[in-house]
Amino acid sequence: MLMYHGIGDVPAAADPDNLYVPEAAFAAQLDHLAARGWTVLDEAGYLAALDGAPTPRRSVLITFDDGYVSVLERAAPLLARRGMSAICYVSPGLDGQAPLPGMPQESRLMTAAQMRELSAAGVALGCHGWAHESMPGMSTEQLEQCTVRARDELHSLVGERVATFAYPYGHHDQAAREAVAAAGFACALATYDGAGRLAIPRVDVNATDTARTFELKLSRVYPLARRALGSAPAVRRAAHRVLGHAARS
Ligand SMILES: [Zn+2]
Repeated sequence: MLMYHGIGDVPAAADPDNLYVPEAAFAAQLDHLAARGWTVLDEAGYLAALDGAPTPRRSVLITFDDGYVSVLERAAPLLARRGMSAICYVSPGLDGQAPLPGMPQESRLMTAAQMRELSAAGVALGCHGWAHESMPGMSTEQLEQCTVRARDELHSLVGERVATFAYPYGHHDQAAREAVAAAGFACALATYDGAGRLAIPRVDVNATDTARTFELKLSRVYPLARRALGSAPAVRRAAHRVLGHAARS
């Protein structure tokens, strides 16, 4: 399960969190998946696999968080050209939000019309809370806004039901997981810490990845090592110390 944010060539100084994978690197990563025989699952295929349907050993789901316009403009064509699918997690309360002061143009979020376009281009939409607030500690009403209301708003904005959920910042607690389950989502994605199908961990791919770190992240060893060490960021740093960082301009 791979987690991306935006795609684009953003200078390192404007992207301290390394959220934007350069377009050429993303294309090379997709080509790597195809060359190594990875099956890129679509949403239906992934949900079937969760329910126990047999899937190839090398199966991967590509996800994007936040709904940056670059997912529609840059990632979707590269995926479509290769017959690959993905899921993009959007927050309906931030529909079309312009970049915050000091943030790069690439942090612009999709409008409802662009979300519909993305869906038509073969990338499924998922729910990423209401306005990207961290959910642990929320009141029942706030949790409902992030799940039931967000789900219904996406349905009316985009004209289709969203089946899956991703926690903003990957943060979740038991109440958040229960709210997601009560709203009828088929599964929910986290970042590092898992809790069954209501918090499925993902591997983040970011601007500092090289071909070798990407390959390492695909290997089965990586999630196991992560779990054993109990700290993904530490493994991420260690992996990069050994294998090198992609050069950033
Ligand atoms: Zn997010």
